[in-house]
Amino acid sequence: MKNVIEINNLSKAYGNVQALDSVSFSVARGELFGLIGPDGAGKTTLFRLLTTLIRPDDGMATVEGLDIVHDYRAIREQVGYMPGRFSLYPDLTVEENLNFFAALFGTRVEESYDLVAPIYRQIEPFKKRRAGKLSGGMKQKLALSCALIHRPSVLFLDEPTTGVDAVSRSEFWDMLSELKTKGITILVSTPYMDEARRCDRIALCNEGRIMHIDTPQNIVGGFGGKLYAVAANNMFALLQAARSATGVAECYPFGDTHHLVAVEGFSAELFVSEMQGQMIKNLHIERCEPTIEDVFIKLMQR
Ligand code: ADP
Repeated sequence: MKNVIEINNLSKAYGNVQALDSVSFSVARGELFGLIGPDGAGKTTLFRLLTTLIRPDDGMATVEGLDIVHDYRAIREQVGYMPGRFSLYPDLTVEENLNFFAALFGTRVEESYDLVAPIYRQIEPFKKRRAGKLSGGMKQKLALSCALIHRPSVLFLDEPTTGVDAVSRSEFWDMLSELKTKGITILVSTPYMDEARRCDRIALCNEGRIMHIDTPQNIVGGFGGKLYAVAANNMFALLQAARSATGVAECYPFGDTHHLVAVEGFSAELFVSEMQGQMIKNLHIERCEPTIEDVFIKLMQR
């Protein structure tokens, strides 16, 4: 299967900030590919390069076989882009926004209604409402409808679920799975590690580089080392003490607990007695399964 997106050693700096540092990967047709990484990882820069809004300093990339520098006009007609910030016109109504984006691409809403309908129907009851007055989840559905109105073969979605409630986030990922069944290739970014599981493959990125690319299952499966969740009365003292305990490779805060990566020489019994010796009170320890976030933390520490 031919790749829809090919990226080779793509680099981009702003002054002395290297936003993207020699990034290479490819995305196959129909793939739902996720870019996972914190703020500043370079995700938006990559989207802006691939949608031809900015030019690279170095390297090259193609979308549907078209070069991002030389074939920028053709690329703009082929792709749909939902930028991270609200991309709609707040003073136009829902309906007017959709019509506007259709007109921009020389098409009419009716021509793409079959593609947009499953998403647009959810906000159609509010079609006379100004976009600026919609909830986060509704804005997101309208922005996705607008990005699809010219029947793009590739969708670029930059943090589409940031600032959206959990239910709308989950619904949004259902919509992406639905679009995937229609053969649309999707590159989507998110800072929410839990959303990575909904992608076919993900790239873990940080500071302009890609640290790892694989399926979410393989990424979690390759964690290596046993993982425990630990907690105690004094979490800070626990963190300090655990880091120097026998057979502990790493210990880091993780939600309400600390995660502890155990290597050779570790045993829960020994750990408990060592913590008692350090006056750690009410210690709880249990085995847990690694998440994408654990892998991310591990890669960052390398
Ligand atoms: P992300 O989308 O993952 O948060 P960005 O691509 O927005 O990452 O940013 C990558 C790096 O480039 C960050 O350090 C950011 O501050 C910097 N950056 C992004 N856009 C600009 C710009 N227009 N001018 C200067 N620095 C920028």
